[in-house]
Amino acid sequence: MIRSGPVKTQNENCCKKSDGYLIRVKNSKIEILCRQCRKPTQPYGSGRTISLRHLPLCGKKVTIEITPLRSQCLNCEGNPTTTQQADWYDAKSPCTKAYEKHILLSLINRALLPNPIHIVFNGGF
Ligand SMILES: [Zn+2]
Repeated sequence: MIRSGPVKTQNENCCKKSDGYLIRVKNSKIEILCRQCRKPTQPYGSGRTISLRHLPLCGKKVTIEITPLRSQCLNCEGNPTTTQQADWYDAKSPCTKAYEKHILLSLINRALLPNPIHIVFNGGF
């Protein structure tokens, strides 16, 4: 269901909530490259859990929860930390890229629909 690029994910579990579905995923790729020097880093716990709105399933709301891994670079000065990032969401977005695209397309389609009042007037003449 979830495709990813450099960071592979696996469906950890899924549960049905009253208003939809909650899917918890975790990263299966544990190597994280330093955001500064791009070299492999050492594990450094995990970041905060993120909730992302995803494409609806059978008309129900779908939320994906992911807790990204963090790592620390021992090569760079100050030992900076890096949070793992998958390519199917942006770090500061409340939803997945697929859901953003879905919303954008639905807004475009809505804008392209003819004005119903206009059709009534034109249809009468
Ligand atoms: Zn580094």
